[in-house]
Amino acid sequence: MREKRTKIQEVLAREPIGEELTLMGWVRTKRASKNVAFIALNDGSTINNIQVVADVEKFGEELLKKVTTGASIAATGKLVASQGAGQSCELIAESIEVFGEADPEKYPLQPKKHSLEFLREIAHLRLRTNTFSAIMRVRHAMAFAVHKFFNDKGFFYINTPIITSSDAEGAGEAFKVTNFELDAIPRNAEGEVDFKQDFFEKEANLTVSGQLEGELAAMALAEVYTFGPTFRAENSNTTRHLAEFWMIEPEMAFYDLKDNMDLAEEMLKYLVQHALDNCADDLAFLEKRAEEEDKNKPQAERAEMTLTERLKFVLENDFERVSYTEAIEILKRSKPNQKKKFQYLIEEWGADLQSEHERFLVEKHFKKPVILYNYPRDIKAFYMRQNDDGKTVGAMDILFPGIGEIIGGSQREERMDKLTERMEAMNIPVEEMSWYLDTRRFGSVPHSGYGLGFERMILFVTGMGNIRDVIPFPRTPGNCEF
Ligand code: ATP
Ligand code: MN
Repeated sequence: MREKRTKIQEVLAREPIGEELTLMGWVRTKRASKNVAFIALNDGSTINNIQVVADVEKFGEELLKKVTTGASIAATGKLVASQGAGQSCELIAESIEVFGEADPEKYPLQPKKHSLEFLREIAHLRLRTNTFSAIMRVRHAMAFAVHKFFNDKGFFYINTPIITSSDAEGAGEAFKVTNFELDAIPRNAEGEVDFKQDFFEKEANLTVSGQLEGELAAMALAEVYTFGPTFRAENSNTTRHLAEFWMIEPEMAFYDLKDNMDLAEEMLKYLVQHALDNCADDLAFLEKRAEEEDKNKPQAERAEMTLTERLKFVLENDFERVSYTEAIEILKRSKPNQKKKFQYLIEEWGADLQSEHERFLVEKHFKKPVILYNYPRDIKAFYMRQNDDGKTVGAMDILFPGIGEIIGGSQREERMDKLTERMEAMNIPVEEMSWYLDTRRFGSVPHSGYGLGFERMILFVTGMGNIRDVIPFPRTPGNCEF
């Protein structure tokens, strides 16, 4: 029988010098002198490797030849205090078992710097790199922290459907779900696709947001949240958009817009604090990685703060709360607008804000996270609560440095007449949405909610620059590998 595995993370934390242990993992590098081989072993439990020392004579060339970068091994031996610099302890191997070899001629991940672009093409292997394993551990910690944050506040986790028949928000952004034979789609007498013959006997889509169903739950459990996959067929090939991403959507009865902002700010700070408290080694590695990447960039594009500084900065500052109307005034008077440097110039109140404007406000003007609120009614969704001025709604977006919009939310319109008035004006089928309107028909209450894009949060916390690099298997236009 094989010995029980001890995790490297635990060994490095506990340093049980003198104990006999079995480590299992993947070889990062092997350095061999005439008499000894030094094997840097990683088992995914931590960014840190442990050094396994193998006597060449004892194990023989034949076995050690198989111990190459990427190969998987078990090593049993005694933990000793390390002689060399760079590590506190090392394992003196008494036995080594090779599970799987990795032919150096063929294994793509050799110990040299690979570009992120190259690694994206081998996303099925990139998790084995330091960078991607660090990101995935941080991602895990953040998912855990999301649940912990809400659980500790007494929120209930609700699973809203992934397949839906409501396309209330998506103006054609939703992926269709069907089991029609695609080369023989049934049509009705009018020549239209006959969805009555489809699996659900109606049109169905992958969800673009769990909000509407989240609202149903909030009308019973008061404070709920969803955390699930979200799909958008938007053809925007940016560094901040995925076709499949994960969204966290709390929905709270009895919250007004300010309560909503307070919760969102508290949550973002909680997540950052959790990362600082629990992911120190991975963050230190990612910070160094970002600094090295920055060295290849022109001075003007380099980050002004280190990753840790950016994270602490979010913790230590109140987010700036600015109305849309104030923001438009700032943008109109701004240098890039005056000098026509913006791609989209801000000319009048009512303009939709682009990422360049959001980033100007956050990175240049306020130099801290910004919560923009009270947006023009006409550029926002039908369910947002109408303000008394007759032209704005109680929407709020949170903008982060380097990211732009990280959260979008609002106080919801709880008044039946106001809501249906908006739906009619925006050509939203009131009949079909009758189930949603029952929330307002029966026991309606003021309520609010928001959506946090999980990968945008991971981008911020890891200091990565492309959203494709913070999800294990990115789906973007033209890319659905693995
Ligand atoms: P954007 O304007 O940046 O495209 P949005 O206004 O369409 O975002 P919302 O509908 O408000 O986004 O969704 C809530 C949150 O979900 C956003 O603030 C963002 O963090 C995240 N999000 C939206 N679309 C995507 C996407 N395609 N990929 C990853 N995250 C996204
Ligand atoms: Mn939004």
